[in-house]
Amino acid sequence: MAKPKVFIARKLPDEVVEKFKENMEITMWDSEEEPVDRTRLLQEAGQCDGLITMLTDRVDDELMDQGKKLKIIANMAVGYDNVDIQAADKHGIQITNTPDVLTETTADLTFTLLMAAARRIIEANEHIKEGKWENWSPLFMAGTDVHHKSIGIVGMGRIGQAVARRAKGFGMEILYHNRSRKEEAERELGASYHSFDDLLEKADYVVCLAPLTEETRGMFNQEAFKKMKSSAIFVNASRGALVDERALYEALVRGEVKAAGLDVFEKEPIDADHPLLGLDQVVCLPHIGSASTETRTAMMELCLENTWKVLNGEKPKTPVN
Ligand code: NAP
Repeated sequence: MAKPKVFIARKLPDEVVEKFKENMEITMWDSEEEPVDRTRLLQEAGQCDGLITMLTDRVDDELMDQGKKLKIIANMAVGYDNVDIQAADKHGIQITNTPDVLTETTADLTFTLLMAAARRIIEANEHIKEGKWENWSPLFMAGTDVHHKSIGIVGMGRIGQAVARRAKGFGMEILYHNRSRKEEAERELGASYHSFDDLLEKADYVVCLAPLTEETRGMFNQEAFKKMKSSAIFVNASRGALVDERALYEALVRGEVKAAGLDVFEKEPIDADHPLLGLDQVVCLPHIGSASTETRTAMMELCLENTWKVLNGEKPKTPVN
């Protein structure tokens, strides 16, 4: 019997893909850096049984409508805001994501961003590398303490709780906001539940880890930044569109928020002349939350396993719909 056809919308390492070729006929887009062009993706959707997509690919009704024999689309991310789930249901296509395998790595990065913004790590590094370190002075590169401060986590899910565990090790007071309470986290981490506004008013560090949905889009707006302490540091490791970047920029310039750490942006890649990039008190990273070799490999393998399971008539490990 012919093997099912699978297309991967990015070039992945051969050694990861190789072992799955026994069961599936796998082809890949030929670039590791550049997203697949839309025409090719549509064409592949029309011929394949399975697709593995990236967060840079728009997985919409048009794409799924092409996929007359498409059974699964495995999205290589835990967030699936690039996927139209309603359209997938309509077309009877299984969508999967990659939760859990990236939780700890993304929490490490989120806490790194928080620390880097608080202790001015990037500014200090640039200062010394530019040959500007000439003296010591009492308040030279003085940042803000992290230990024993309060952290407010908006989106206390898998990654949010992993960040909270790190914060607990720093003796921080943990506040959180979700639509529903996480009583286990309250017991285990001593976390306290707050309304969004209350958290914004009380937290020294506000960390965004909620998914991008119609409800969360733009939730960190001018009004939200105004509610934060002027000494607060804002960290976003979720999705850029939860934040009104113009409002964040203005809040930082006006001193309504002290500093920020951002791994994600409304438009990715961000324009090189974006005003946020010009601010010393903002640490910016190019969406590298889950980017460790071990974790990215685990995400690729999970996508391939999910794809094979569905094409083999089994339940996937991590279904979305
Ligand atoms: P998760 O376990 O589903 O956690 C998300 C949490 O957000 C849930 O606890 C959910 O609780 C809460 N939430 C949902 N809607 C909300 C709303 N309207 N207001 C407040 N809280 C809300 O997901 P995860 O695995 O932790 O991942 C979280 C997000 O991180 C992903 O969606 C993705 O966008 C992002 N991410 C980014 C990177 C990166 O590279 N920077 C890497 C991995 C993940 P309730 O349902 O009770 O509200």
